[in-house]
Amino acid sequence: MGVHRCRKCAADSVINMPQHRLALCASHFVEWVEKSTLDFIGKHRMFEPQDRVLVAVSGGKDSLSLWRILLNLGFHADGLYIDLGIDAGCAYSKRSGDYVRNFAQNLAPDVRLHILDLASAYGRAVPELAGRRAGGRKKLCSVCGLVKRHEMNRIAHELGYDAIVTGHNLDDEAAVLFGNTLRWDVEYLVRQSPVLPGAALGLAKRVKPLARFYERETAAYAIVSNIDYIEDECPFSKGATSIRYKEVLNSMEAGSPGTKLQFYYSFLRARKKEIFPGYDRPDLQPCEKCGQATGIPGLCAFCRLTDPEKAGGQ
Ligand code: SF4
Ligand SMILES: [Zn+2]
Ligand SMILES: [Zn+2]
Repeated sequence: MGVHRCRKCAADSVINMPQHRLALCASHFVEWVEKSTLDFIGKHRMFEPQDRVLVAVSGGKDSLSLWRILLNLGFHADGLYIDLGIDAGCAYSKRSGDYVRNFAQNLAPDVRLHILDLASAYGRAVPELAGRRAGGRKKLCSVCGLVKRHEMNRIAHELGYDAIVTGHNLDDEAAVLFGNTLRWDVEYLVRQSPVLPGAALGLAKRVKPLARFYERETAAYAIVSNIDYIEDECPFSKGATSIRYKEVLNSMEAGSPGTKLQFYYSFLRARKKEIFPGYDRPDLQPCEKCGQATGIPGLCAFCRLTDPEKAGGQ
């Protein structure tokens, strides 16, 4: 693929990473990705070798690569696929689920894939829960995020997993950081981390072991590892502000390789120095119905949203 030679064995490289001044062949690239992930997990104390972790898989390149990496590294990693019921004329959720099921078929028999079908569990999937009238894409994505967070926490808690693991890559994290910084959104900045510790009231630890990899690196890992993944993005991600942030960061990266990595790593270093003291998690209390932490008395946002009495009233 490239004119560069692998730094380790001088074979033809499959990827050149100017931000690391590193070109590697397929097998040395796979080795580098897995070793770097292990280092990142250890450095940020994400989880221990004996822990059981739950990988949130979407059918895309990042989460399926992550699952494969963790299994290759010998971790006890099971998968969780949440069928959000998004069709949007392209059967998006159905096709995503097919990629996940197909991937899971080839895993060792002791590796489990949990599937939650929202429509079967709650009578309504994300588009119906978001309501037809109000909001458009923004409302839909915020409902989708809320549902995913609640259900990942619930399942991790009920099944006794030590951490929820998600496939966010560096491009995702840098774009979120860029947006939070543009708005100086301190409450979000203090919470942006590759590790969110667990807390009482059913809040599981959440970690992002791929946050140090560029998107093109996770894509290359998926391709050289023969992982079949859904290439389409969710149809509702079109027009999202984060895509514009990614474009800005990509153009800066093209002129100055390493910009994104520096931006993110410098933030993590600053964060360690507690640049924003005095911003603690708000007081939380148990939801009256599900028991999961909520900032407001009574029912949590998820239980209010999925209240059967509201069905049909939107
Ligand atoms: S883009 Fe799609 S998957 Fe992402 S939050 Fe929005 S609806 Fe959910
Ligand atoms: Zn090599
Ligand atoms: Zn609740």
